[in-house]
Amino acid sequence: MPRIPVILGALLIFATVAGVGGYFLLRPPEPKRQARPEPAPVDPGTPPGSDPKPATEQPKLVVLVVFDQMRGDYISRWAELYGPNGFERIKKDGVWFSECYIPYSCTSTGPGHASLSTGAPPSVHGIIENEWFDRKTGTQMYCCQPKRPYELVPPVPESLGKPGRGAATGYSPERLLAQTVADSLNESTKGQGRVFSLSIKDRTAVLMGGQKPTGAYCFDTRDGLFHTGAFYRDAPHPWVTEFNAAKPADAWFEQKWEKLRTDIDYAKFSGPDDAPGETVGYNGQGRVFSHPFKGKLTAPAKGYYSALECSPSGNEMLFGLVKKAVTAEKLGRGAVPDLLCVSFSSNDIIGHQYGPDSQEVMDVTLRADKLVGEFLTFLDTEVGKGKYTMVIAADHGVCPLPELPSTKAKYPAAQRATTEELAAGLEAALTEMYGKSDVKTKWIEVFDDDVWPWLYLNHKTIEARKLKVEDVAERARDFAAGRGYVETAFTRKELEDGKFPPEQPFKKAVALAYHPDRCGDVIIIPKAGVQISKYTTGTGHGSPHPYDAHIPFLVYGAGVPALGKRAEKVSSLSVAPTLAWALGVPAPKQAAQFPPEVLPVKK
Ligand SMILES: [Zn+2]
Repeated sequence: MPRIPVILGALLIFATVAGVGGYFLLRPPEPKRQARPEPAPVDPGTPPGSDPKPATEQPKLVVLVVFDQMRGDYISRWAELYGPNGFERIKKDGVWFSECYIPYSCTSTGPGHASLSTGAPPSVHGIIENEWFDRKTGTQMYCCQPKRPYELVPPVPESLGKPGRGAATGYSPERLLAQTVADSLNESTKGQGRVFSLSIKDRTAVLMGGQKPTGAYCFDTRDGLFHTGAFYRDAPHPWVTEFNAAKPADAWFEQKWEKLRTDIDYAKFSGPDDAPGETVGYNGQGRVFSHPFKGKLTAPAKGYYSALECSPSGNEMLFGLVKKAVTAEKLGRGAVPDLLCVSFSSNDIIGHQYGPDSQEVMDVTLRADKLVGEFLTFLDTEVGKGKYTMVIAADHGVCPLPELPSTKAKYPAAQRATTEELAAGLEAALTEMYGKSDVKTKWIEVFDDDVWPWLYLNHKTIEARKLKVEDVAERARDFAAGRGYVETAFTRKELEDGKFPPEQPFKKAVALAYHPDRCGDVIIIPKAGVQISKYTTGTGHGSPHPYDAHIPFLVYGAGVPALGKRAEKVSSLSVAPTLAWALGVPAPKQAAQFPPEVLPVKK
């Protein structure tokens, strides 16, 4: 792709404002709130999106429901199979924004949840990926890794195996650089409005909960229990201890994941059960229904709990804890509103294994619809109709399996590639370009699945060879961009200077993904349909392509008009201000958007 230099220092800000504001047909936000590497200063005024609603419409409980990896098109794709009480109830009595898109390029779980809770892009909240390379310490950083290690609460015995990335150091929101809706509620109500953030994954519970949630809990596959960390509390809430004591995760040990609907032919609505490119799940789940949970185990253990997470039962188990939280804490029954954040992770774990066109993803989505119905009915009884507001969204979508003929037809470049082969090719190419020298170290510091799509060059090698990092980065960019499966690549300098070719379609998305302290030297965007990972089966997400960026956005409940489907484009960054509007508190300080215009927000 030719690179035309555009010498315009303000292009980055202009492009960002035009992109997120104009592109999504929303009122353009103040430029100072956009794409700043550092959090913007506190705005002394009250943003228009935050005026409290009249008392009669003020909900007592606001619920954020995130389905981890749910594509925007799923809401219509299987609509004829949904019951009347879930998504269809919201479509009828609330608002369904059918064209909601993530405006930044790093469509991963960490950035997704951080943006849903802050309303800011990764360039501002700093969660640029689930992991990144930290040049100061020379280590790979996890997005909810605390500044010092914390114990898990309750602790997990070491004998149960190696902890996951988050559990290894305990978890905290200290890497999150922007204010969340939860923090705004906390500030406005002087801690009276309570915040609970519950999920299967740790990073999702942490990033939704903000700096001081009343409770943040996630699941650990080593012991099959829910935990918090000592950053938050020294002991779990009594209702969590009670929930754990009943070993709810063990309930499915003798069961199998069967199809929800036995009366329909799943193949007609999705694809064949055994499709090329599918993975085999966990613990012997296999590629076709029914999927057993226990494998060869005689008692529940890590393999079983991993299989449980990779099934709709993972979401069901979490919903058990959610109901317990609402009942035990009497959420939505105090003088000030409470916030409950729930992220259902099983959709993502299943989607990675079987892909968006699988019978498994269709099944977990039908069950997600059923779950939403049960959740609404539960809140009707427990909190009361008209006393709560529910917002449903997702952190990202997903790429179809590259092996499927339908994928190849839509995306001719669809294929698999690995970061390993790209790194090896680049090492060789740079050596050829600059010649051999006495310096034995590699050109690349870190470039693997964990830090993808960022390439971190080895600055020591480059300096020892008396070369400029910027120049080597340009060569690396050109090499990467020259691969048949790569759409384009950008250097750090291009992102800093905002010097993009005028028609470059991804310039806004990468600018919003760039944080100077955390990003690498080159960012790589694969062609649509391409999977770049070490896995030879399964699929993923993380690109700015529409299949990754299109998410559902539904709003229902107190003060929400029955507008049904709205087809105007909206940004995923408007989810957080919508939550703040529902709570009647100021939008998070670095939020880049306002609630969608059709919501009755007082100007
Ligand atoms: Zn994922």
